[in-house]
Amino acid sequence: MTRQVYMDHSATTPVDSLVVEAMLPYFSENFGNPSSLYTIGRQARRAIEESRQKVADLIGAKKEEIIFTGSGTESDNLAIKGIAYRNRKKGDHIITSSIEHHAVLHTCKYLETQGFKVTYLPVDKEGLVNPKDVEKAITPQTILITIMHANNELGTVQPIEEIGKIAKEKNIPLHTDAVQTAGKIPVNVDTLGVSLLSISAHKIYGPKGVGALYLRKGTFVEPQLHGGGHERNLRSSTENVPGIVGFGKACELAKGRLPDEERLAGLRDRLIKGILEIKDSYLNGHPVKRLPNNVNVRFSFIEGESMILNLDMKGVAASTGSACSSTSLEPSHVLMAIGLKPEEAHGSLRLTLGRGNTQEDVDYVVSVLPEIVNKLRMISPLAR
Ligand SMILES: *Cc1c(COP(=O)(O)O)cnc(C)c1O
Repeated sequence: MTRQVYMDHSATTPVDSLVVEAMLPYFSENFGNPSSLYTIGRQARRAIEESRQKVADLIGAKKEEIIFTGSGTESDNLAIKGIAYRNRKKGDHIITSSIEHHAVLHTCKYLETQGFKVTYLPVDKEGLVNPKDVEKAITPQTILITIMHANNELGTVQPIEEIGKIAKEKNIPLHTDAVQTAGKIPVNVDTLGVSLLSISAHKIYGPKGVGALYLRKGTFVEPQLHGGGHERNLRSSTENVPGIVGFGKACELAKGRLPDEERLAGLRDRLIKGILEIKDSYLNGHPVKRLPNNVNVRFSFIEGESMILNLDMKGVAASTGSACSSTSLEPSHVLMAIGLKPEEAHGSLRLTLGRGNTQEDVDYVVSVLPEIVNKLRMISPLAR
């Protein structure tokens, strides 16, 4: 049988067996509605509050500052629309970057149709936002700065601390999408200087369909879902108890396993070194300010889609561009923003490592890739 190598952990991760175990009782045994006053309801409530503490602990927050949502996407929406609508009388200007996840980018685009003004800051060749550009973009009308902590395609880690200082000085709330960083590198809301921060369970070995928004005490957002007043009136919906319990467990495990990420950084560097031996291949993103699990490379004269399908035949799961745009043929907005040509963006490959990956996996990928690249270049109309 072909070796199976999953290297698309930035798209999603398998649920940890300890997480599954923690969740199971909350489906059929402890199925109570956390709003009910009787015993099984109160048990569910207690489980949610314990999870809230675990999520808070992963990012150095207070329990009361965590709002459970249905996803990272929803957290981003609540943060951005929530601040925008709440502060409409104060101002109408939002600052973001051109490489945000679609959950942020499309929310900002939507707000433009509602009369808000958005500045999309450029990034440099390595995918970094310049804090000075953030400072220059601020106007008296600015009500929110939202810049992601690390990019899901390039793995580039942004200077959020520096941006946080600027935001604090100007008294503007800073939101960061930390979906790709929480559990991979240390994330602390005070060190970062953020007022809002988004995370998602399924990127850290938790279940899909549950996320959280950190909302600093004293920061207020307009709710986007109205109903029974759950989550301090900020996110009505009967709580996803098993999901929330799984998320809490995943955060607890991630915190304990943070040192393991160094092992991944070693594998990452081995993978990059091995791949760059291939002629006409280049690293996308920053050489150092990079997530420990992210490899993004490009090969001249090659079409990413064909590369993914050929890797799949060898049992390797990877992605080209971002997972979210894998259904469209538009070149990735992130790769375009770092100045790549469309054909260079299309020739890019993202491999994201995770807990299950070994050195053997890395060596296997390094061994099958040259053959695939050569084969595709032979039939490529782009190659000379
Ligand atoms: C995956 C991802 C999201 C979306 O999270 P979901 O829980 O899948 O909605 C948002 N931002 C980034 C950076 C991501 O990688």
